[in-house]
Amino acid sequence: MARTTIDFGIDLGTTNSEIAVLRGTEVEVFKDNEGFEFTPSAVWMDPKNRLWVGRQAREKLEDDPQNAFCEFKLQMGTPEEKVFQRSGRRMSPEMLSAEVLKELRSVVKHRTGEDVEGAVITVPAAFELPQSDATNKAAQLAGLKQSPLLQEPVAAALAYGFQSLSDRVFWLVYDFGGGTFDAAVIQVRDGVIQVVNHGGDNHLGGKLIDWALVDELFIPAVRREFGVRDFGRANPLYTAAIAKLKLEAEKAKVKLSARESVELSVGLSLPGNPQATFDFEIKRADLERIAEPFILRSVNICRKVLSDKRLAASAIERLILVGGPTLMPYLRSRLADAVHGLGIQLEAKVDPLTVVARGAAVFAGTQRNKSASAPIASGAQYTLELEYKPIGPDTEPVVGGRVVGKASDVLTGYTIEFVNTDARPPWKSGKIGLAPTGTFVTNLWAERGRANKFEIVLCDATGRKLPTDPSAIPYTVGMVITEQPLIHSVGVATASNEVKQFFEKGAPLPARKRDVLKTAFAVSRGNAGDVIRIPVVEGDSPRADRNRRIGVLEIKAHQVKRDVPAGSDVEVTLDMDESRLLRVKAYVPVLDEDFEDVITLGYEKTDAAEVAKALEAEKRRLEDVRKKAEATDDDDATEAIARIDAERMVFQVEGGLVAASGDPDAAQKARNRLGDLRAALDQVEDAVEWPAMVAEADRMTSAAREVLKEHGERGDLGAIEAHEAEIKAAVQAKDPDILRRRLDELRGTVFRILDRKGIMQVMWFRNLLGMIDQMRDRSLAEQLVARGRRAMDGNDVEGMRAVNRQLAGLLPTAPPPPDLSTVL
Ligand code: ADP
Ligand code: MG
Repeated sequence: MARTTIDFGIDLGTTNSEIAVLRGTEVEVFKDNEGFEFTPSAVWMDPKNRLWVGRQAREKLEDDPQNAFCEFKLQMGTPEEKVFQRSGRRMSPEMLSAEVLKELRSVVKHRTGEDVEGAVITVPAAFELPQSDATNKAAQLAGLKQSPLLQEPVAAALAYGFQSLSDRVFWLVYDFGGGTFDAAVIQVRDGVIQVVNHGGDNHLGGKLIDWALVDELFIPAVRREFGVRDFGRANPLYTAAIAKLKLEAEKAKVKLSARESVELSVGLSLPGNPQATFDFEIKRADLERIAEPFILRSVNICRKVLSDKRLAASAIERLILVGGPTLMPYLRSRLADAVHGLGIQLEAKVDPLTVVARGAAVFAGTQRNKSASAPIASGAQYTLELEYKPIGPDTEPVVGGRVVGKASDVLTGYTIEFVNTDARPPWKSGKIGLAPTGTFVTNLWAERGRANKFEIVLCDATGRKLPTDPSAIPYTVGMVITEQPLIHSVGVATASNEVKQFFEKGAPLPARKRDVLKTAFAVSRGNAGDVIRIPVVEGDSPRADRNRRIGVLEIKAHQVKRDVPAGSDVEVTLDMDESRLLRVKAYVPVLDEDFEDVITLGYEKTDAAEVAKALEAEKRRLEDVRKKAEATDDDDATEAIARIDAERMVFQVEGGLVAASGDPDAAQKARNRLGDLRAALDQVEDAVEWPAMVAEADRMTSAAREVLKEHGERGDLGAIEAHEAEIKAAVQAKDPDILRRRLDELRGTVFRILDRKGIMQVMWFRNLLGMIDQMRDRSLAEQLVARGRRAMDGNDVEGMRAVNRQLAGLLPTAPPPPDLSTVL
């Protein structure tokens, strides 16, 4: 019989993947042929160009590294392809992930004979939209007809919560995986699980510890012992040797969870010494020292996730451990420590390696199987259209629906009854009369701790029983989740480096939003290169360049039927579903035309050289703010600097850059770490500049009062007072971003007052005169200046406005506004 719910759940992990199924209230994780519950997420192409997935493939990472790949999940959404050297075949991260999914499907097929047609697939909560989108594509490539995406921490909480009686509590899910870290505060209330807050890092996980072992212990030792000075990740000569060391590092790390020390003996091929044997003893203490900055980073993320919601660690009932590295004793004691860690009681009853797949299966039990909704050829004359949830916290759930018979049927006098035959004694709903249209609604009664099956008894007016399709429905009492929240805000970047937000962090999904944007450049039909291009960003900073660019919304010249002048309206509609898949439509009023699917999601390739250049600039900034922080002795600034040092942020970026030649994830990681460093520096800068910002706010408000006195009209006083109140609130909240925005708003109002009097355009003009050196077309600029002067002399405000606009257009970036104090 076709499944009424999806029931299968897959944890498509960076390192390992698992598949599980929900049977009633129990979850089974499938074992592969060798008896393992997890399948390494690795793909190997053999000399006959056949693909192998899982354990065999993983072993080949060592012997045949040019034809075996792993950890491709970290490149999801990027244009990074893997090339199997022997055959030259290229595969994208989503194609490789599809192979893993196919393998999991075949594990089930092999065990039970069932074809898995749909499965819930988990993704890290920290995944951005292009990564979720790529996961969805992988599922399609693997032949899955349905593949709702579920956030991994939610899955873990579900695995624990499904049959738990805990209520009104908070949990913290701590998921330290192979390559990603997620921390989520979960609230359990009235049988419903909800994500309260989330933090995470797409480049934090066990593999970073492996690489740190290679970089900090093995490479220096190989250099010393064999005298190969240039041995390192940057040199392509040693790619194979280094790959081998990385795998050995991982094995040693895993063994050190159970032992105090491990000795390795690795065969390496080195120049002049093709059969070198590298012997090395590694002690648990070495691993702990090396793992420390990564664990600290995870603890800091957890602390922030809690403090954002003003939750003390004591408010958290338990900390749910997820991911292989949580098997490390040091990590556990570090987390449990009340002073250096979190001091929350640890919970690891469910195997940290399969807990996510288990939760995914539980969630799959709530998801209707759409391919089964087509009427089954059971011969029944009556079909039921049901409104009900197959899993829910309620022991007396509501079920409603409609009985559909032949078109000629009038269902007056018909009754329907639900019977729970497994209950002792059997429970019956009693006969419920149908409305003439066939509709009904009633409550069921279900037992906890097992899957309840309700037989459906339909009778006509004479009491004759009639077969129905379906003939029974299942219901299980268990915890469910509310809408999954959006993890990062999503918006579009404006020319002034601000973000026009569409969806805010935490917004419940699905969500839809429409807004009107303006085009920055003209698009002429005949001009093939012209395009309306609006960058889409994901992240929580009000500054566009501090967020991740995740795609572009594009309408190309050949798509438009007429020219679209610069500054035209574009009405954009964003639709995001529960799986965080985004669809974007645009409507251009001047064309009266709709454009479907105008967004291309995906990252640009990371350019290591650019990251290196940017890092140099940030290093200078760090030295600069370090001095300032020392001078001002501000607590926030000192704390942020201490965090930059303790997490070794600069070193992390540098390490990533060195590794970038051999590890495609490393360049991305370097770029992300650079982003963290920037954000931390912004914070220090804000803190040290705060007193100056407050002084500026004072100066601006008194300037605004002066303008009001000289040029104000009715209504202006109220507006200025409202700005003053908002500025005061921002100063009290000590929020630099908000204060900056509030000051901009005040400036805008003052400028409007001045503009009414014709004063503003004169100020703009003077301001632009000072920037003439930076303008693109000098001779045009000078002509405009001459025209501007004539307009100024003739008191021609509109003439000046036109000149100013054109002059501003000659600048590479939008000019800063004139200083208010110059008005006075
Ligand atoms: P993912 O979710 O990324 O697939 P997993 O949760 O399967 O990751 O964890 C994989 C990581 O866990 C790897 O870095 C692996 O080395 C590490 N790991 C697995 N078992 C242990 C162990 N016993 N001790 C320490 N680390 C472990
Ligand atoms: Mg995982």
